[in-house]
Amino acid sequence: MQQQKNLFAHYKQPSIKEDSYVTGLNLANSMKGRELVPFIPINGRQVNFYYCGPTLYKNFHLGHARTYIGIDIIRKTLRDYFNYDLLSVMNITDIDDKIINHAKLANQDFFEFTKIWERDFFSAMESLSIELPDVITRVSDYIPEIVIFIEKIISNGYAYNSNGSVYFDIQKYLEDGHKYPKMRPEINADQLQEGEGESQVNKQSEKKSPNDFILWKASKPEEPKWHSPWGEGRPGWHIQCSVMASSILGNPIDLHAGGIDLVYPHHDNSLSSAEACFNCDQWINYFIHLGHLNFAHRKMSRSLKDFITINEILKKYTPRQIRLNFAIHKYDTVMDYSEEHFEQAISIDKTYHKFFQNTQIYLRDSQITGPQKWMQNDFQISNLLRNTKQVIHIALLNNFNFPTVIDAIDKLINQVNVQISNKTVRAPLVHSVVEYVKFILGLIGLNYQTQNNNSSDIKLIMTEVCSIRDQVKLAARKGEYEAISNIVTQKQFQYEKNLSNGIVDCINQFQQQVLVASQDKNKQQLFQLCDKLRDEQLFDLGIKIEDKQQVSIWKQYDPQELKLEREQQQKLIQQKEQIKKKEEEKKKQEELKKLEKSKIHPKDMFLTQIDKYSEFDENGIPVKDKDGNELSKKQNKVVKELWEIQNKIHNQYLLQLQKQQQ
Ligand SMILES: [Zn+2]
Repeated sequence: MQQQKNLFAHYKQPSIKEDSYVTGLNLANSMKGRELVPFIPINGRQVNFYYCGPTLYKNFHLGHARTYIGIDIIRKTLRDYFNYDLLSVMNITDIDDKIINHAKLANQDFFEFTKIWERDFFSAMESLSIELPDVITRVSDYIPEIVIFIEKIISNGYAYNSNGSVYFDIQKYLEDGHKYPKMRPEINADQLQEGEGESQVNKQSEKKSPNDFILWKASKPEEPKWHSPWGEGRPGWHIQCSVMASSILGNPIDLHAGGIDLVYPHHDNSLSSAEACFNCDQWINYFIHLGHLNFAHRKMSRSLKDFITINEILKKYTPRQIRLNFAIHKYDTVMDYSEEHFEQAISIDKTYHKFFQNTQIYLRDSQITGPQKWMQNDFQISNLLRNTKQVIHIALLNNFNFPTVIDAIDKLINQVNVQISNKTVRAPLVHSVVEYVKFILGLIGLNYQTQNNNSSDIKLIMTEVCSIRDQVKLAARKGEYEAISNIVTQKQFQYEKNLSNGIVDCINQFQQQVLVASQDKNKQQLFQLCDKLRDEQLFDLGIKIEDKQQVSIWKQYDPQELKLEREQQQKLIQQKEQIKKKEEEKKKQEELKKLEKSKIHPKDMFLTQIDKYSEFDENGIPVKDKDGNELSKKQNKVVKELWEIQNKIHNQYLLQLQKQQQ
């Protein structure tokens, strides 16, 4: 432990000043070996935040989704929960060896190639509702700044030009008392690596030391290139983030984030490049790292082929389920990709959705004008809400511990659900709980509001539709066909403002078809029409009708989400059916085997076993083993018992056969 402390002795925790905004938030800071340290921004509530964006050469996959959804949740929490004033910057690496190589392989123009993958990245971000940063910095827009930055590092003595390329001089940097690599201080000199692209392999002779990493790379004739004092070339990867982050956010910067695989060499090299340029001790005050998503027990990195693209995963799960799948794990721990985690996420999502729908119905039906005096249950729920807030506050202060947050929300929801179903809690208190849960889930980016939720038109129309449908079903059961005709001709629905005309169309169609069926006195058809309205027509428009004992209730969803939910449910049913089918097949096979066995006459059962026995008596019972020795007493007993059993089941078989023939 002492040694661990010394390794990170370079870290200087920002001190609390008069205007410091102190919330009590603690972050697992990689600058101090991921130790939890109090988060103190440099200027009051203001937080300057930089995070590493994508390198554009391949599909955005689920591993990236974990990083960017994680950052999205952290941003929302810092801003909306802790009330920090955030300025967020994300880079786009559109110049890199990997891009050059992949564009070449795809036989595409370099610049067009990056545009394709940039569009893919932002469309994936949008489909997952990941907020854009305040500032996007594209490397190709920052070449002049990068050149000036490198010139400064050279003039400070920490970089050198060799053959048109510029390298960072680690030896000189260390000699002057700087620390490197700061976040992986345990790494020995012979374990150092540059972390640059494939084009670097044959460049060792240009360097003073094999550990020196590249800042500016001379381009080959066919490669993309930009002007510089050292000839035509392009910036290395690590220096890009140093320049773009400090161009917008300066020095020092409060917070820097990225995937855990970037700690070394990328983040350590960016850090030392910036500190070498500014000749300072600490460019970044807090460095946080997001955990890996392991896929099939392997690191889900882009260099592996087996990745899941966002388009693929969105065919199976909703963005909310994907977010929950990540939020049930701590952001900075390793997690395995698994269907079970997704199933857990689906189940939590369903609980939340049900909670909001139920409370909405409760508040829709509740009478504020009714009795409001608090009873024991109200005090209980109120205390639980306060305790939940306390638990969640502590969890968020503790390096954004969302698994604990979700747990606490679960407990709160369960209790409120019970009180709602018993109608034993006052509506204003339910409203307070709903608002709080909505706020906290909003930090995870979960939104359970549907487009027309607050439209009074839909409330009126759906209440009427449910009532008409209930009446039709009741009358059909009794065979009162004339009454049905009256029910459906009483009201003609009109198009309303703010309401999907599809709803009005399908209700009018339902009424017409019911009228025809009632005139035909077709009971079965009437029930079918009621089912069709519930399962197809309104369902496709995102309205779910649930038939309760006497009356039905309605809930509104996003139509796409409702469709996906049904698909997931059907998949589950299919899986269960498959298991059942397999078990039945197995049972059938066993019965068949038993039947085949029962067909064998006891006299014949041992005769084929010549690898065991050589002589048999008149009933076919073995008397000598394969070597011609008489069977022992014990062996005799065993074979006789087996013979008796076979005799019994064979006789049963014969009896059965006889019965069938009669
Ligand atoms: Zn970076």
